Amino acid sequence: MAGFLPAPATPWPERRDRALADRTLRGAISRTTHHLAAQRREAYAGYPRGEELQEQALASRRAGVARLDELIATASRNVEARGGRVVRAAGPLDVARHVLDVARRRNALRVVKSKSMATEEIELNRRLEAGGLKVRETDLGEYIIQLAGEHPSHIIVPAAHKTRGQIRELFDAEARAVGTAPPADESTPALTAFARRQLREDFLRADIGISGGNYLVAETGTLVLITNEGNGRMSTTLPPVHIAVVGIDKVVASWADLGVLLQQAPLSGTGQRLTTYVSLISGPRRAGELDGPDEFHLVLLDNGRHELLDTEYADTLTCIRCGSCLNVCPVFRTVGGHAYGSVYSGPIGIVLTPLLGGLAQAAELPESACTLCHACRDACPMDIDLPQHILSLREREVTEGLTARSLDLTYEVWARLWASPAGYRSTTRLARLGQRAYVRNGTLGRVPGHLPPPGLLAGWLSTRDAPPVAAETFHEWWARTRGET
Ligand code: SF4
Repeated sequence: MAGFLPAPATPWPERRDRALADRTLRGAISRTTHHLAAQRREAYAGYPRGEELQEQALASRRAGVARLDELIATASRNVEARGGRVVRAAGPLDVARHVLDVARRRNALRVVKSKSMATEEIELNRRLEAGGLKVRETDLGEYIIQLAGEHPSHIIVPAAHKTRGQIRELFDAEARAVGTAPPADESTPALTAFARRQLREDFLRADIGISGGNYLVAETGTLVLITNEGNGRMSTTLPPVHIAVVGIDKVVASWADLGVLLQQAPLSGTGQRLTTYVSLISGPRRAGELDGPDEFHLVLLDNGRHELLDTEYADTLTCIRCGSCLNVCPVFRTVGGHAYGSVYSGPIGIVLTPLLGGLAQAAELPESACTLCHACRDACPMDIDLPQHILSLREREVTEGLTARSLDLTYEVWARLWASPAGYRSTTRLARLGQRAYVRNGTLGRVPGHLPPPGLLAGWLSTRDAPPVAAETFHEWWARTRGET
């Protein structure tokens, strides 16, 4: 039984074509991904220790995943010893129920959130709003996409697909809706100043702050947040209650492990040696402390992760969500994250979406959204074998009967025909005859959808040129020049 991920509303070809037709989106995504990939290259080139640290970090993550149950138990004990409350959540309903219970008990209405992919994964905002809470995203990118009614298009840059002009339009609309002054212009300082002004009020009035967690250090039960905006600290210290929703895979054994891991996500994701803020949270405010919440809740989210432990996909649990594989993927760089129809996009999204949400819901991703160029494998600091996982998911799609019957039939017939020399030669001759009407300038271009195999050939050639079957095949040339078959 997999966990839960929201199902896409439309099929992949529709989402892909919509993205391809949107030149603004393609420009924004291309600029962001090329910039981030270049930053990463420069960061590693100027920091020889980066590679060495990467190896240590990889070893720490693998060791942590291998002891996951033990580390979760240790972390939970230590959080509780410092006055925190620990809740194990099997899936989205458990998380929403817990937050709503706390809200009812505390008579809470307003929630501020810092960026968290775990809460995106389980559509926590929608569930809390259905329960009567007002939820405000406070990471700048998340705030933008919340106003746009969208989900993140990149793991670390949620509004990577938006231009400054589009952001200004969203902020202008928000200013009209709440009766405040719009941004002065569409410069970055003007846009961030508007967001800061709006969000300040939300922080001050919030009853509950919700965060994710980049790591959870088992030996002390310390939650670690790495961010480039101050919103993480505001969300976790100003409201009287802090609830952290953290995937069980984020647990690491010790501070020594954390020391080598802290740099990996910024180095690989944004090309920074360290993020602007590193927040270490060890429970609620204690006697004598000035800042911090009265209550701290750690919600450990499973949602299909634990069952990956003893499978060939266990290395996906070491993912640190750095986004590096997205930035080098030719498909992601062209269509952006929304085309994937999942909060997790790019190569890691192709793998995680079916693993967490079920293959039946997302079989189209491994099948169609990957060129198997292996760039993601080279970019991943955790050495996750993404191409192999994608191949394995494609294989499972066939063995679990999730491919279209017409496709299965096509390959079956094709395999039978080409299993004999006579079948191979006769189909080659037929194809040579049949292709005549569609060869232009030496290449085979678009063909009508009814040509056999139905839909498959037309679909393949709708976005590619292919060489036509040669006027003389190798076998025919051999027979003509050697007089032998
Ligand atoms: S799969 Fe690797 S490159 Fe992609 S987000 Fe995870 S750690 Fe980063």
